[in-house]
Amino acid sequence: MSENTKYIFVTGGVTSSLGKGIISASLAKLLQSRGFSVTLQKLDPYINVDPGTLNPYEHGECFVTDDGAETDLDLGHYERFLNVPTSQSNNITTGRIYQSVIEKERRGEYLGKTVQIIPHITDEIKRCIQILGSKNDFDFVITEIGGTVGDIESLPYIEAVRQMKWERDEDVIVIHLTLIPFLSAAGELKTKPTQHSVKMLLENGVQPDILVCRTEHELNQSIRNKIAKFCNVTSNAVIQSIDAETIYDVPVLMMEEKLDEVVLEKLNVKSKKKPDLKKWEDFLYRHKHPKHQVTIALIGKYVELKDSYKSIAEAFNHAGAANETHVDIRWVHSEEIYAKNVAEKLDGVDGILVAPGFGSRGIDGKIEAIKYARENKIPFFGICLGMQIATIEFARNVLGYPDAHSTEMKEYTQHPVICLMAEQKSIVNKGGTMRLGSYPCRLVKGSKAYKAYGKEMIEERHRHRFEFNNDYKEQFEKAGFKATGINPDSGLVEIIELDNHPYFVAAQFHPEYKSTVMNPHPLFVSFVKATLKK
Ligand code: GLN
Repeated sequence: MSENTKYIFVTGGVTSSLGKGIISASLAKLLQSRGFSVTLQKLDPYINVDPGTLNPYEHGECFVTDDGAETDLDLGHYERFLNVPTSQSNNITTGRIYQSVIEKERRGEYLGKTVQIIPHITDEIKRCIQILGSKNDFDFVITEIGGTVGDIESLPYIEAVRQMKWERDEDVIVIHLTLIPFLSAAGELKTKPTQHSVKMLLENGVQPDILVCRTEHELNQSIRNKIAKFCNVTSNAVIQSIDAETIYDVPVLMMEEKLDEVVLEKLNVKSKKKPDLKKWEDFLYRHKHPKHQVTIALIGKYVELKDSYKSIAEAFNHAGAANETHVDIRWVHSEEIYAKNVAEKLDGVDGILVAPGFGSRGIDGKIEAIKYARENKIPFFGICLGMQIATIEFARNVLGYPDAHSTEMKEYTQHPVICLMAEQKSIVNKGGTMRLGSYPCRLVKGSKAYKAYGKEMIEERHRHRFEFNNDYKEQFEKAGFKATGINPDSGLVEIIELDNHPYFVAAQFHPEYKSTVMNPHPLFVSFVKATLKK
């Protein structure tokens, strides 16, 4: 256990969706900009071992790390804000905690003791938190506890926080995020829900050190004093978090509220530097003052829940700012596209992106959209399933194999242009068994991808089972459908591009996971540039 690491817990009260992830990432950004090493961790109170098996409608996007962990989408925010990769250790679920405790019990490691929530589950939670700090010797570990205080499932986590505070008081603080609602009939901001939610934490033995209060209206000094007095915190520890125009404003707002300063004061840490958000603010300026605008159709089957495509939408924000362009996303449901209406659905768009996905639903609409992009020379970018569908579309409409398909959708097709690799065939378990995480890829010189990255060797993150079928590679290439990114170890096709098209690029990997504010992703930047030329 590192003696020096400080632990900051972020809990939530009153309602869910207050933006704990963004507040945590913003605080981390401020501490990082003062020169500290910081990491962020998310504890999820559900029983799934990871969100990899969850439907996006349940949980939004599943974010994938370099080491192949399927994680909560908040880890995407952490990486985009800090520009530092996360790993499996940054996302822990109740399922994972219980799995590891039960495995230890089966190995006899508890020496005949009765295995209980306290101390065994709480010990395992504390171990997962502290191991992250000590392994990498971070100055700060910020741990966000999913859910809302009072939920039955988050109780063991809150208890672990209580114990950590009790064991190493000087190294641990708790920030509680709450809501201060505005009652328009009374014309007043109300503090009672916050008082009650702090009381709930107190019932579990945890006194928060700092309150971050979400509000639609400014909190004046007298209301801050009132909250401080009733919730037993210092009045400089009542931090206002007012609704912001974009999530990227939040670090700046938190700096103005001196959240980082109060955190350092409470933990008794001296800082040599003031926070320096210069580069961040440059990005923010470009993001908010674009010189151009483009419309890009995002075609997917989960478009009703935009969180399903969180990293893609954010990658467009980063790439847009890099091109001084506002990217307006037109969300198009793939099940609503037919040959008859595709021109109308995609009328006026400057680019088309076909999103990742699983299963048959919406496939026909995606095929129509890609055909439209190919024939009308509209810039196209396909990601994962998007690349697979581009392959199917080309095989059907150019190579002349009307039954070409992926064996995911049609197991016994005559022309399996996308198929399962041998090592996937014997897998029965669904969780954590795809091709996951970072793999190298060699780019073909002179290709659009090579131009975008400006180098030959890249590494990108994967999350899929099916692959381009290399038996067909020669035929595709002869017809102008080129493999421009190849895995050097396996020979698998990772990027394809079309000749005689202004921009038609698709990747088997997920570039969106690696786009950050400071490092917009090269393929998104080049795609947005291509839409501007159109
Ligand atoms: N369903 C496809 C596969 O498993 C694509 C997955 C994805 O788009 N992430 O290969």
